[in-house]
Order: sequence, then C-alpha cells, then structure tokens
Amino acid sequence: MPHHCQTILFHCMDFRLQKLIKKYMLAKNLWGDCDVVSLAGAAKILADGNDQEKNFLLRQIRISLEKHNISQIIFMHHTRCGAYASEYEFAGHQEEIACHAFDLAQAEALVKSHFPALAVRKVLMVMEDDRGERAKFITLPPQTDKFIFNFRLDTSLIPRK
Ligand SMILES: [Zn+2]
Repeated sequence: MPHHCQTILFHCMDFRLQKLIKKYMLAKNLWGDCDVVSLAGAAKILADGNDQEKNFLLRQIRISLEKHNISQIIFMHHTRCGAYASEYEFAGHQEEIACHAFDLAQAEALVKSHFPALAVRKVLMVMEDDRGERAKFITLPPQTDKFIFNFRLDTSLIPRK
C-alpha cells in the first residue's frame, strides 16, 4: 500500500535541538508526517562536502521522493552549531548567520539542479541559549538575485580553525 508524506526535513543531529524541533514540527503539522534526516550540520555537506558525501544525501532525497512522493524539502540549520564552530571562527552573529545563509543557498541550488520540481525551504534556528530552551526560527527567502546580493559571502574569508 502506498504511503505518502509531503516533506523531508534535514536537521542537525545535535541533541539540544530535539525539543525545539519537535515543537516546530508539531506547529507545522509535520510530526509523524515527514521524512527526517539528522546529520551534523544538516545540509552543510550539500554545500561543502565531496561528491560521495553529496551523492549520499541526494540519494536520501531521491528515496523520499520515489517512496513517499514528497513535494518539499526543509533544510534546518542552527546557530551555535558544533559542525560550524569546529571549522569557522566567526567574528560575530551576522557573519555566522550569513555563512549559514550562504551554505543553505548552495544546498538549495544543488537540490534544485537535481530535483527541479521540489520546493526548498530554508530555516535557520537562531539559538537564544546553549541548552536549546529558546530559539527563533527564521525562514530565509528563496534564491533570488536580491537574496544573493544581500547574503552572498565568500566563506573562504572567514578564518578557519
Ligand atoms: Zn549543529
């Protein structure tokens, strides 16, 4: 019997996020009705991984599409993310957010090139503490020239550890 859902959600594996992600999913009617991929840094590898890593993630999307007939992907990143902190030395909050926006835009472009019919939503969870008690969920605008102009950032300029 076919079983369908609308969405595949990529979020970070970080345990601190679980309660807030559950709240978000309940609020968006995704709980129990959504494929979930949990990875360090969420869609980070789609932006900066090697081909093998990218293909592995793209395969999860393909399976979700073929088995569950999804129509949208949600990429959820978060600030204070260990996967980013281990790689970047952010000068401040804006730079951190811009880096996520840049990577999310890259992940979106890659996915769109493989699955043009899928809608891509990019959500950034801006953490208000280190415990995952409070966060703001920001939906980033879809890829447009204006968006690129405002958020494009050469991540090679951010000091790496
Ligand atoms: Zn994380």
